[in-house]
Amino acid sequence: MKSLLLVALLNVLASLALCQAQYSKWFSEGSLRVDYILAGNHDNSEIYLQTLKKEAFWGGSRSNLTDNNGFGEYLCKVFTADSHELIYSQGFSTLFQEWQTTTEATLISKGFFQSTNIPFPNIPVRFEIYERDDKAEFSLKFSVRIDPSDYFIQPSPELDYMVEKLKNSGDPGKCVDIVFLPEGYTLEQMGKFKEDVLRLTDSLFAIEPFSRYKDKFNLYAVLAPSSESGVDIPGENIWKNTQLNSNFYTFDSERYLTTSDFWGVRDLAALAPYDQIYILANSPKYGGGGIYNHYSLTTVDNELSPHVFVHEFGHGFAGLGDEYYTSDVAYSDFYSTKTEPWEPNLTTLVNFQSKWELMLKPGTPVPTPPTPEFINSIGVFEGGGYVAKGVYRPAYNCRMKSNTTDRFCDVCEKAIEKMILQLTQ
Ligand SMILES: [Zn+2]
Repeated sequence: MKSLLLVALLNVLASLALCQAQYSKWFSEGSLRVDYILAGNHDNSEIYLQTLKKEAFWGGSRSNLTDNNGFGEYLCKVFTADSHELIYSQGFSTLFQEWQTTTEATLISKGFFQSTNIPFPNIPVRFEIYERDDKAEFSLKFSVRIDPSDYFIQPSPELDYMVEKLKNSGDPGKCVDIVFLPEGYTLEQMGKFKEDVLRLTDSLFAIEPFSRYKDKFNLYAVLAPSSESGVDIPGENIWKNTQLNSNFYTFDSERYLTTSDFWGVRDLAALAPYDQIYILANSPKYGGGGIYNHYSLTTVDNELSPHVFVHEFGHGFAGLGDEYYTSDVAYSDFYSTKTEPWEPNLTTLVNFQSKWELMLKPGTPVPTPPTPEFINSIGVFEGGGYVAKGVYRPAYNCRMKSNTTDRFCDVCEKAIEKMILQLTQ
């Protein structure tokens, strides 16, 4: 038995060493940041390359370099330029794609700042961006050869802000690293910012599965003050001079708080190694937003802020979709009922087998009626993804549906756990 255990241990060590060797074969320290403009309207999109930058840190995994989740509206792939071997991939979503589903996008075209970070390559690579097509499949949108010795690759700006590590669980390559950015906190309020980070992450680590893995998280706070306290509220004609130019009324939805200054966000985040960016907005107004592998954002001083904090991180970190369908949103037909959404906690029943079918108790009807017999179990409840018909969610209630429950449903919990394991192994 002992020798079997020893063999298993040696196998694990050997595969870890192989992963590390793979990483250093293709990549050196730091990350390559590719800045581009994502522009278009409801029907079309284009990508225009802007700048290449070298950043000091890479906070992502060094062993799970290719993304097999299939999440996100976009997918970045990196190949060796000569042999066309896939060496890195990562799915993500964007504010631009959300805007494409608004009425405004049927009337005008707009451009959004976008940026993708990859481990800094040590050989020439082909950097590609794929976008979901009408069939929800990824199709190639943009491709460029990048030579890491190109002298036009700029160093990232040396911003003179302190970074404090508020929780240290070890090697960034084996932890989930969250970099917190302050929005609308003045210099005198930097202490409050740090307290807010700790208070809100306490609420996250009180909930499964985060509570189980809290010793796998590193938390960094970038102490970057704003000239003024608060954030922009266009609908009330309130405008503030802040670090990240965030505003309520995104797409004219009052509670939707985002920033379109994503390059400014990346500049600040570059001061720490990170997997996820979380922006805390110093306001008591209810609101926030979270976009998969882009950023999460919430206000801090509303009584519901701890709930919103956890909900938005569900979007930003695990690609979870909104399970609610009764609140007003600016989107129309966000989900096509002709294709299966990629979000792990929503289905249109087009390909339910790829979702949580195996988690249903035998005898659970599909769709599942919201009756006392079923509402405490995993099912397939109609209503979700902003519509009452044609999109289904796994639980009667969940952190991704409403503020009346603290916990994630089993399907969301499993999806979050999978993401944590991918980043920490
Ligand atoms: Zn859920």
